[in-house]
Amino acid sequence: MDEAAPAVTIGDRVVGALAQGARFVVDYALPPRCPGCGVIVGQDRQFCLACWASLDFLAGPACARCSIPITSLVPDDAAQCGACLADPPPFDAAPAAIAYGPAARRVALRLKYGRRLGHARLMADLMARPLSRLTADAGDPPLLIPVPLHRWRLWSRGFNQAGLVAQHLARAAQADVAHDLLLRAKATPSLRGLGRKARAKAVQGAFALAPDAKARLAGRHAILIDDVHASGATLRACARLLVRGKAARVSALTFARVVPDTPDDATFDFGSIDSDMGLVTRI
Ligand SMILES: [Zn+2]
Ligand SMILES: [Zn+2]
Repeated sequence: MDEAAPAVTIGDRVVGALAQGARFVVDYALPPRCPGCGVIVGQDRQFCLACWASLDFLAGPACARCSIPITSLVPDDAAQCGACLADPPPFDAAPAAIAYGPAARRVALRLKYGRRLGHARLMADLMARPLSRLTADAGDPPLLIPVPLHRWRLWSRGFNQAGLVAQHLARAAQADVAHDLLLRAKATPSLRGLGRKARAKAVQGAFALAPDAKARLAGRHAILIDDVHASGATLRACARLLVRGKAARVSALTFARVVPDTPDDATFDFGSIDSDMGLVTRI
């Protein structure tokens, strides 16, 4: 998900590095906690029973293109939702590990803002199954492409959460990762409070292909990796470039998929999703 570029000073970097070091020591000394609710559990990267039971693995009928759950009278693996039929996305499939809910939200936010870097591996663990389904009929290993952060954001945070997840996934699935194939050409304003159309406009021109992208994409199945699939504006913008770069196939894989209450997500208020950003201090 996109955020605005902040002003960063050297002091911020030093304080951030010290805080990260202190957090590492604290993490090491404390017992493992459920990544969904914080209760003490037996092992690292393990949800408590209540949180595990609350996870929605999106196993029901879904749009073949964007993976939004759909109710279909006739079971059909190729069925697409109204939004995809009206405005086909540039990716051919966009599975997610789980639906965006309280536990998924906490995991994603604590990785991004709480620097719980171990959560990237947890996310990758849950994304391994949709990744294997996505690549089941392909011979060559896929090329995982994390949605890039603007350099200011990368500099202040010290890591790209999508990049960490992609690294863990690649290690487990023997895939390749290209961290520098997609570039963030400009910082985008926060998408908080923006609806679907405004989000699409905000990410216009935000991404670019690296000069050698075409050679690297030739004949490859390019899979975009991101934490949350909300309106899909970011994934569409990135996928469009990969199609232009002549990837053989373009898909997108995320940890959590926002599932609107209505089957037609064109009317869903995606603005409410980024209001998470206002809760950063309470994660
Ligand atoms: Zn829990
Ligand atoms: Zn769809």
